[in-house]
Amino acid sequence: RQAIEAAWPGLELVMLPDDPAARLPAEVLERIDFAYFSGDVYPEYSRSFFAATQGAPNLRWLHTFNAGVDNPVFRRFLDRGVVLSTSSGSTAQPIAQTVIGGMLILARPFLRWADAQRRRAWEPVPASEAPADLAGQRMTVVGLGAIGSEVARLARAFGLEVTGVRRSPRREGDPVERVVPPGELPVLARETDWLVLACPLTDETRGLVSREVLAALPRGAYLLNVARGEVVDEAALIEALATGHLGGAYLDVFATEPLPPDSPLWGLPNVIISPHNSAVAAGNERRATEGYFLPNLARMRAGEPLVNEVR
Ligand code: NAD
Repeated sequence: RQAIEAAWPGLELVMLPDDPAARLPAEVLERIDFAYFSGDVYPEYSRSFFAATQGAPNLRWLHTFNAGVDNPVFRRFLDRGVVLSTSSGSTAQPIAQTVIGGMLILARPFLRWADAQRRRAWEPVPASEAPADLAGQRMTVVGLGAIGSEVARLARAFGLEVTGVRRSPRREGDPVERVVPPGELPVLARETDWLVLACPLTDETRGLVSREVLAALPRGAYLLNVARGEVVDEAALIEALATGHLGGAYLDVFATEPLPPDSPLWGLPNVIISPHNSAVAAGNERRATEGYFLPNLARMRAGEPLVNEVR
């Protein structure tokens, strides 16, 4: 609120409380011409925000804190002609750092050491069971946007060879050795030690990492998913992890969230789970507001095209 009022002192600002039952009177709803959703789509309180903004007859523009807008709640705004823009990019750094953290935990013997530590056991990993060097391993990043590009940049600092999967060809300055189109993923999978998912969930990406793609990965390969659970065939993933075909996975997103208590994923020793929380960082709200919402508000008022407009 402070940042918005400082930037636009004359603006009439309506704040919705974090209360699922909160409703705005009709005369207030009529005066709302744009809205900023600065919370999480999933908790209860977001219902009051979407109920209010859906009922605002003069709403022209909605800016959201989120990067992904696959939740059906956003489609309803687009369908009624409301301009929608996102804060994609505002959480790319913390998410990429979490992905690299997951990779390091899986690549280095942290899980094994942590297990020994809990038993107060001094158990050095013998040279005969030493893990492979990360340098020289091959990473494939599906979705070379804000998150994927940052993961690629960091991974290359560890000496990994990174290939991006994107619809458009390689461009000057891309942080990857090469770019291939999505149709080549089943072939590329054969040469992938680390498969990173950082694409949006769309009709094209739903189920993209199919049973066949998982089977094509070399034995012992790893999956790191911060995109959406539905990009992967989760049943096939569980099988590939349980049989040891995959060496492990770091998963932040799942086909059903919260991940049901009876999901086999919870119990697999080579899986690291975070509760759709890879982005958590103290600066996110400020970055989204100051870096994306306020500049877009200035653009909207000047009649200029918005950054991150969803089409
Ligand atoms: P972005 O728009 O900057 O990047 C997405 C990239 O994916 C774009 O370059 C786009 O061209 C590419 N893409 C689209 N379809 C593709 C396909 N079929 N194959 C390969 N690439 C494709 O978005 P971002 O900020 O990097 O976020 C990417 C996604 O990550 C979001 O849509 C969201 O689903 C997810 N996300 C998850 C979290 C989390 O908390 N886990 C947080 C933010 C975003």
